[in-house]
Amino acid sequence: MDFQHWPPVYDEHYFPAPSQRYWFPHIETMDPAERETLILRKLQAIVRWAWEHSPFYRQKWEGAGVHPDHLRTLDDLHRFPVVTKAELRREQAEHPPFGRYLCVDRSEIIRIHGTSGTTGKPTVFAIGRDDWRRIANAHARIMWGMGLRPTDTIFIASFFSLYLGSWGVLVGGERLQATCFPFGAGVPGQTAMAVRWLREMRPTAFYSTPSYALHLAEVAAEEQIDPRDFGFRLMFFSGEPGAGIPATKRKIEEIFGARCVDSGSMAEMTPWMSNAECAFRHGMHLWQDLVYCEVCDPQTFEPVPFGREGTPVYTHLERTSQPMIRLLSGDLTRWVNEPCECGRTYPRLPYGIYGRIDDMFIVRGENIYPSAIEDTLRPMEGFGGEFQIIIDREKAMDKLVIRVEYSEEWAQQAKITPGTLDQLQDQMAKRLRSVIGVWPVIKLEPPGTLPRTEFKARRVVDNRQLYEALVEPSS
Ligand SMILES: [Zn+2]
Repeated sequence: MDFQHWPPVYDEHYFPAPSQRYWFPHIETMDPAERETLILRKLQAIVRWAWEHSPFYRQKWEGAGVHPDHLRTLDDLHRFPVVTKAELRREQAEHPPFGRYLCVDRSEIIRIHGTSGTTGKPTVFAIGRDDWRRIANAHARIMWGMGLRPTDTIFIASFFSLYLGSWGVLVGGERLQATCFPFGAGVPGQTAMAVRWLREMRPTAFYSTPSYALHLAEVAAEEQIDPRDFGFRLMFFSGEPGAGIPATKRKIEEIFGARCVDSGSMAEMTPWMSNAECAFRHGMHLWQDLVYCEVCDPQTFEPVPFGREGTPVYTHLERTSQPMIRLLSGDLTRWVNEPCECGRTYPRLPYGIYGRIDDMFIVRGENIYPSAIEDTLRPMEGFGGEFQIIIDREKAMDKLVIRVEYSEEWAQQAKITPGTLDQLQDQMAKRLRSVIGVWPVIKLEPPGTLPRTEFKARRVVDNRQLYEALVEPSS
C-alpha cells in the first residue's frame, strides 16, 4: 500500500496471516496524532480532487469563501460547509442523473445504486471501478476486525437490488476470501427457504438487518427449529440501529447463540462499514483513515469534544466518484476516544447511532417531524407552548399520544370544564390529523406539567421497543 499517492491503490494480493488480529497492524494501532497526519494528507487530496472535478463543490465552496488552500490542519475542515441530503437530491434533479459531483468520467462507473425512493425521487449512487476495489479492500479489512476469516461462510440475507448494504458485504467478503452465500431477501416465502438453506449449508456468519434476523428466528420457531441450531458464530448488521441497542444485541445473541456486531454509516458514504464494531463489541469504531467522521454540534457543525453527543458529519478519504465532503447525517450519537480491548486507536460510538437530530419518527408508515406538530399547535388558541410526543405500540399498531399544555390565559377565560377540554382536544387532533396523516390522542395538561428540555430531541418518547416486540408478541 502506498500512501504517498492519492487515490491509494491497494495490493490485491496482500493477505494477513489468519492468526493476525489486524488486517493492517500499523495503520489500525498507530498513535492518533500520527494518524491525523495521514488523514490530513488524504483530506487535502480529496478536497483538491472535488474542487477540480466538481462544479457543485466549487460553487458551494466559493459561496462560503473557502478554497482547498485553506485546509492546512484537520481543524480547518469545519470551515467547509456541510452537505445535506436535500442538497444532493436537488443537485441531481437539476443535473441528472448523477449531479455535478460525479467527479469521474461516466465510462468509469462500474455500479449504479440508489435509494428506494419510497418518499420521493430516489438518489442515485455511482461508483467508479477503482473505487469499488478500494471499497472491497476497506470492507475486507473491517470485516477482519469483526472477526471474520477465510474459513467463514457468510450468509447474506438482505435485498440484492438498489440497496448497497448487501453488495458491500459481498464485495468485502470476497476480498476476505470467505465463502459468500448471497441469498437475498424480500421474495415471498424466502425466509422459510432461508431456514432450510441454513440447515443445509451451515454458514458460520450471517448478515442482515437486526429486525430481519428476529423475523428469521420467528419463522424458524414456527418450523420447530431452534435458531441456535443454525450454528452461527458471528452475526453482523447494518441498516437499522438495533444491533447497537444493548437490549436488542443481547436478545439476538441469546436467540442465536452468536456474537452480534453492529456496523453502518450511510449509503452515500460507501464504504459504509467505516463505522463498525470490532470483535470485542464495545461500540462502533470510526475507521478514520477510510472515512473521516466528525461528531458535530447540530447547530454549528463544529466537532464536539469526546464524551459529548452530536451528529456525525462524514468525509470520504478514498472516493473519486461522488466523493462526499462533510455530508451531514442528521443522526444522533456520542463519541469517545478511550482505548478499546482490541488495541485499535480509532474513536468509538459506545451506544451506536441512537436517534435523529431532526427527530423525525415513523408512525403507521408516516414520516412525522416534531417541528410539524409544533407548527400546527403554535397558532392555535389555547396552546400553552409545551408538548411531548409519546409513541406506543398496542397490539402491533402504533399509537401516537401528544401531551399538550394549555395556556394560562385560555384556562382563565374558558373556565375549564370537561366539555371545554374535550373541545380543545378534538380541535387539536383534527388539525394535526390533516397535517401529519395520523390521528393523535391529545392529552391536555395544566401549564408547567411537562418536563422542560434543552435538547429538542427529548420531546419524543418512543416506547415501542420495536425489536423486542418482534420476538415476544405476547409480552
Ligand atoms: Zn475494538
